[in-house]
Amino acid sequence: MNNIDLHACRVKPDTTMDLSAYPTTPPEALTQEDSTLWPERLHDLAEQLNRLQTTLHAGQSRGLLLILQGMDTAGKDGCIRSVFTHVSPLGVRAEAFGVPHTLELRHDFLWRIHAKTPALGEMVIFNRSHYEDVLVPVVHRDISKATRIQRLEHIRHFESLLHDAGIAVVKCYLHISKQEQKKRLQARMDDPLKHWKVQASDFDDRKKWNAFMRAYEQALQETSTEHAPWYVVPADSKPYRDLFVSELLVHTLETMKLRLPQSRLKLSDFALR
Ligand code: AMP
Ligand code: MG
Repeated sequence: MNNIDLHACRVKPDTTMDLSAYPTTPPEALTQEDSTLWPERLHDLAEQLNRLQTTLHAGQSRGLLLILQGMDTAGKDGCIRSVFTHVSPLGVRAEAFGVPHTLELRHDFLWRIHAKTPALGEMVIFNRSHYEDVLVPVVHRDISKATRIQRLEHIRHFESLLHDAGIAVVKCYLHISKQEQKKRLQARMDDPLKHWKVQASDFDDRKKWNAFMRAYEQALQETSTEHAPWYVVPADSKPYRDLFVSELLVHTLETMKLRLPQSRLKLSDFALR
């Protein structure tokens, strides 16, 4: 099948961000030609991811952090479930961040985040992250412009620290349209098995959709760097979203040139009897 153009969805540093210029749906040409091949391709990528993750785990010289952000129903949970199906839970961890609790609020905003970052050899997925701290309080006008600018700078430094410590940082904004969110929220309300996912804030945040888009644009623009780039993932199609994120992870791990460690044993000295 045609290759997914990861580069086109990468946010270039120092560009003015306009989310409406990024597609929420897969490229037309790819859908018509190839969508029947997607499940097979996803399976193939899942196996490659498994092999690369085993090497990452064995080598313990590098780590990987995947940050997933997006509006409610953008598909963060679903993406984690389907992209990591073939990966061993040894060495992989998913962390979700909700509204900070009392103790967390008494610390700096990166305190709870730093505690969950990957060790060398680990792959960690953040379901929401420190980016919430430059989204929710900005939209709700709980922080000043100066604080927001300061936080964005702290984020750049923090991610640069992770990079210098051997952690590859990959950031995906799951981009859904407002119409698609309506469908998905309705589906949740119609399915008793999904009622637990529905929160009052989903409806409040939907009313502030445009303000969230502006806050995202600013955050993505200010924090997409060479070593911690943002990708705007077309996420109205769940299979395409999963394919995109899988492809991006495999590509990132391949460029890390991971190697299995050499055995310190001289295996020819050992004989099985
Ligand atoms: P969910 O991910 O749907 O379970 O919901 C988690 C909720 O916590 C979302 O509404 C987030 O916006 C909110 N949240 C996460 N982190 C923060 C934060 N740092 N400040 C305010 N709200 C947050
Ligand atoms: Mg939610």
